[in-house]
This record gives sequence, structure tokens and C-alpha cells, in this order.
Amino acid sequence: MANEKQMYYDKRGQIMVKNLQSRHFEAYYCADRAAALDKALELIPKGATVGWGGALSAQQIGLMDALNAGEYNTIDRDKCKTPEEKLQAAKDSMFADVFLTGANGMSLDGQMVNIDGTGNRVAAIVYGPGSVIVVAGMNKVEDTLDAAIRRARTVAAPMNKQRFPNRTPCEVTGTCADCKSEGCICNQILITRHCRPVGRIKFIIVGEDLGF
Ligand code: SF4
Repeated sequence: MANEKQMYYDKRGQIMVKNLQSRHFEAYYCADRAAALDKALELIPKGATVGWGGALSAQQIGLMDALNAGEYNTIDRDKCKTPEEKLQAAKDSMFADVFLTGANGMSLDGQMVNIDGTGNRVAAIVYGPGSVIVVAGMNKVEDTLDAAIRRARTVAAPMNKQRFPNRTPCEVTGTCADCKSEGCICNQILITRHCRPVGRIKFIIVGEDLGF
């Protein structure tokens, strides 16, 4: 990454961590994905049951590969063979020791925005797993909450929708049309503004571009 961009990310990352901590999240800034992987593994106890949803950034830093190869009980929907198994894995993740996810948008004052189609991801962020770890690249960070919501709706969701094969306006045009299509993936929009119990949600903010 160009040095200027890294410096920009490093400076804003420090602000982000401070503001997340002021909201009682646990928060860390890691300059690159290798450091982020080390930090994530430090936060996950050996033997823990670990589930995930909407966690492309965690996948990109190599976390799922490390967990699947290590001494952890992973709930991996990609290994499920039938829709019924996938559904059960999503339900089991609600009771995991650790839930991994990402952010669709973040505001520099320390709030997170997530959009969900089926709801399992936002449900697990809100309640259930004792520990939630969010891996998010600095490309997700906007100056304001309004801008973070706009990013989630007009950038993250249309990009994410390219993966799913039922027609919505954004799948065809790449642009959100605020649709009411049957296949709409924007069914819940969650703002996580504060953490209780203290430290239940842990952020690993990475000084790289990750995910959607
Ligand atoms: S067009 Fe529909 S599915 Fe696509 S981003 Fe907008 S609301 Fe979501």
C-alpha cells in the first residue's frame, strides 16, 4: 500500500480505537492483515466453539483457515452439504462461544452499521455468543454515522448482492434502488453504538482495504 494511504489509515485507526473504547468496546488497531490474524487468535481461547456470519474480512486475513486447522470447534457453513445443515449451523452459531463478523460501515466516532438479509448475523451481534469479534478494514470507516449508513446501503449491500442469484435492482445495475424485491438482502439495518457487557464486542481494525 502507498505510504501516504498507510499513514492516513494509521492515524485514523488510532482515533477509531479510542472512540470504540469510549463506548466500552474492546478495540485494537493492526496495521496489516498478518498482525490482525495474530490479534484475533490471541482473543480466541483454544477449545472454543467459533461460528461466523458475514465475515469476509476475517476470511481474508486467514482467520477461518487458522481456526479450521487449529484446536477449535468451528461451525463452518461452507462445509455443510444441504440447506438444512446450513440452517442448523446458523442456529448453532447463535450459541457459539465466539462469533466472528465484519462491518458494512463504521463511523469515526465508534459506531458500526450492519445490513442483513436473513438476520442471523445481526441477531448474533446483538445477543447470544459471549464474545463477538469484528474484523474490519479501514476502508469501512466514514466520518459520520450518516455516511456509514450510506456506505452500507449504497456500496456494501450492492457489492454483496452480486453473490446471490435472485434478481434485485442492485444485482442488475450495481446501484441500490431501495427495493422491495422478494430477494432483497436489506431486511435489517443494525446500528451498534455501545457495548454491554463491557468488552463483549471486540474490534480488530485493520489498516488495509478488506471486504465489501
Ligand atoms: S436494491 Fe434492494 S437489495 Fe439491493 S441494495 Fe438496494 S435495498 Fe438492498
